[in-house]
Amino acid sequence: MSRMTSSARPLLNRRLAEFGTTIFAEMSALALRTGSINLGQGFPDTDGPKEVREAAVKALRDGRGNQYPPGPGVPELRTAIAAHQQRRYGLSPDPDTEVLVTAGATEAIAAALLALLEPGDEVVALEPYYDSYAACVALAGATRIPVTLRPREGRFHLDLDELRDAVTDRTRLLLINTPHNPTGTVLTREELSVIAALAVERDLLVVTDEVYEHLVYDDAEHVPLSTFPGMRDRTVTISSAGKTFSFTGWKVGWVTAAPALVTAVRSAKQYLTYVASGPFQYAVAEALALPDTYFEGFRADMLAKRDVLAAGLAEAGFEVFRTAGTYFITTDIRPLGAVLSKDGDGFAFCRALPERAGVVAIPNAVFYDHREAGAPFVRFAFCKQTAVLEEAVSRLKTLSA
Ligand code: PMP
Ligand code: GLN
Repeated sequence: MSRMTSSARPLLNRRLAEFGTTIFAEMSALALRTGSINLGQGFPDTDGPKEVREAAVKALRDGRGNQYPPGPGVPELRTAIAAHQQRRYGLSPDPDTEVLVTAGATEAIAAALLALLEPGDEVVALEPYYDSYAACVALAGATRIPVTLRPREGRFHLDLDELRDAVTDRTRLLLINTPHNPTGTVLTREELSVIAALAVERDLLVVTDEVYEHLVYDDAEHVPLSTFPGMRDRTVTISSAGKTFSFTGWKVGWVTAAPALVTAVRSAKQYLTYVASGPFQYAVAEALALPDTYFEGFRADMLAKRDVLAAGLAEAGFEVFRTAGTYFITTDIRPLGAVLSKDGDGFAFCRALPERAGVVAIPNAVFYDHREAGAPFVRFAFCKQTAVLEEAVSRLKTLSA
């Protein structure tokens, strides 16, 4: 008997059915089509340090990484990741057993969730959440339980009681992101210590996405969750060269965690890409060893850009939330009145904005299960040249003119 193909059955499986094309692809395509300034997808419009690019060229020419690198990543990079953690945070992961190189943070997230979750497990995640979290939780057959960050006094806050209440007997892990995309919130030491205590009390794993670890401003500080008491053996920390060195196309990310966790994550990772980005791994090893002046200069540059865009968005009539970390600003469009959307609908606003003002932004609602909670918020990226930001601002000012 031949196998029947039912036309009634959709091709895309049930786990992924709710996820269409990612908003980043949709909005970057819209930017290209309309010739707009793309403040949507978060990628810098200038590449990272020349010496790091040259290191990649040299690795490629010297035949380093042109064939499959070792599954856990090249030793040079694993050693550099461990040294960076030591230099920044006083942590000392073993490069052989506690570091895993991945195809960007995206693969690290996927591998961690696919490795650590059973169908039916619950994952408590901060909402709004980076879009791949929801898809990967779904691929693992688990259920996401969002805890909504809410705006108060000019920034988004985590309600720690709500977080505590979201944990049930089915909760397997907390999925944390700080500095937080898209709100720009950086969890404080006090907030992180409560999260850590909750994880210990309820015996939860924690996957923490810290890709913006170097982008914190003013008096905010980035404190890795793995440094809190009881967290070492339950935390999977994720970071990426894409953000820190402005090479988002290289897709070099990494996981640091206790050996048993790294082994588990590697079990899933080896069947996703197995390995990736060979020559770039050598270059990122050199990038991580750059002097503090690089990291400080990068941060100061982004801070100046934040200030240009934040001031411009406020002048253009948006309510602007304070960005303490990342390279994103979340705004509320409602003070603009009925411009481009009658009822503060960020989707309608972002779909109409390119035609009307030649600028692309991201509707934060895509990062929410409680869509209505995110409806009026729109995210702008400021990892662009200052002149580009200034041109975007002058275009946005025409909205309320
Ligand atoms: N996590 C967050 C919070 C991000 O914003 C991004 C991408 N910008 C990623 C993960 C993915 O990082 P990568 O490009 O290294 O896969
Ligand atoms: N992380 C980037 C952002 O938030 C986009 C990455 C992607 O396109 N998947 O804009």
